[in-house]
Amino acid sequence: MSTFQAPKGTYDLTPPRSATFLAVREAIAAPLRDSGYGYIETPGFENVELFARGVGESTDIVTKEMYTLTTKGGSQLALRPEGTASVLRAALEANLHKAGNLPVKLWYSGSYYRYERPQAGRYRHFSQVGAEAIGTEDPVLDAELIILADQAYRSLGLRRFRILLNSLGDKECRPVYREALQTFLRDLDLDEETRRRIEINPLRVLDDKRADVRKQLTDAPKLRDYLCDACKAYHEEVRALLTTAGVAFEDDEKLVRGLDYYTRTTFEFVHDGLGAQSAVGGGDGDDGLSEMIGGPELPSVGWALGVDRTVLALEAEGIELDLPSTTSVYAVPLGEEARRVLFGVVTELRRAGVAADFAFGGRGLKGAMKSANRSGARYTLVAGERDLAEGVVQLKDMESGEQGPVALAEVAAELTKRLG
Ligand code: ATP
Ligand code: MG
Repeated sequence: MSTFQAPKGTYDLTPPRSATFLAVREAIAAPLRDSGYGYIETPGFENVELFARGVGESTDIVTKEMYTLTTKGGSQLALRPEGTASVLRAALEANLHKAGNLPVKLWYSGSYYRYERPQAGRYRHFSQVGAEAIGTEDPVLDAELIILADQAYRSLGLRRFRILLNSLGDKECRPVYREALQTFLRDLDLDEETRRRIEINPLRVLDDKRADVRKQLTDAPKLRDYLCDACKAYHEEVRALLTTAGVAFEDDEKLVRGLDYYTRTTFEFVHDGLGAQSAVGGGDGDDGLSEMIGGPELPSVGWALGVDRTVLALEAEGIELDLPSTTSVYAVPLGEEARRVLFGVVTELRRAGVAADFAFGGRGLKGAMKSANRSGARYTLVAGERDLAEGVVQLKDMESGEQGPVALAEVAAELTKRLG
């Protein structure tokens, strides 16, 4: 071990577990790519003001969890705590919304940073894959996003997750509800911080996990009773589309996820095998974000799925992904001349698109064959002086155990053919 360790709240991805992470990212991205979402990548840090406005001054993310820094040039930056604000910023900056092709559908994948209290499933550095659809207000879009996330989780074999669904209303009905809720909350017996929250972000109070608070919230006004007709119809349409698609969901009127300008559809994917950190992903509609960061009025909807917690969910369900071994051919040279010749074959195979590896360091046959086994390669190539003198290499099928000489000049073509 070295003097250094990974910083508190972080961990390293190393083989073989790292392969599962890559596969999970890929499984989440695949349905998006196949549905017209284009890949977007933004910097790992942004002007701190983007998140203050775009995530919201009153959120935990901004007040407590953000890593901020002052550069040598005096700029105030923050490591990105989430993806939506950056993606919208980048889309507006590139004028993607003006290209006459709405909605702008984007997907992203990357590292995010939050200064949180580290615990199982909650880290200071974590990975998300996310999607945003910008510029069109259409319940089909909300349904599409939820269906694609469901499809991603199912493709990984996950079963014990649930989809929680709610509507947060819009510019018309949301403020009326907000005021009714504030009036109700102001009469309760609450601590100072929660009282402050009532004034800034009252819906967040509904999210309070403490029993004494929850008890007082039983008779709180329900958002459902305040939804305007347009929002009701929109929400019913999303629900109907999900039902038609065979995607099960639970109506959860307590689900309020975060920001004050989240609008209409809000949803969360929870997994029942994860204990307290049960949310594996979530998403929302968003009518105000674009304007908050200085853009035009543009609706958007999106989600972010946590890669780390999705891997934990796989482990909780005992799912081992069927990851094909990355190496198909493993070459074991015996002697100097064989090293040069077999390395040439390996290079040729690689150029032909066959995954091949090599026993480096002039190791003995036994140790090298152990590595060949561990590599998961279907075929090994072994060659010594006598083989080379005869112009052949020994080709072994590791599955059947079959073994025999193949002409050196033909071995690459033979393997390419056998591996199809
Ligand atoms: P939580 O309620 O658990 O704090 P959140 O509402 O802050 O979650 P989002 O901002 O919606 O989470 O992020 C989407 C997903 O990213 C979460 O569902 C989760 O899977 C993952 N995620 C969020 N914060 C962390 C973290 N600190 N460590 C690992 N994964 C995280
Ligand atoms: Mg959080």
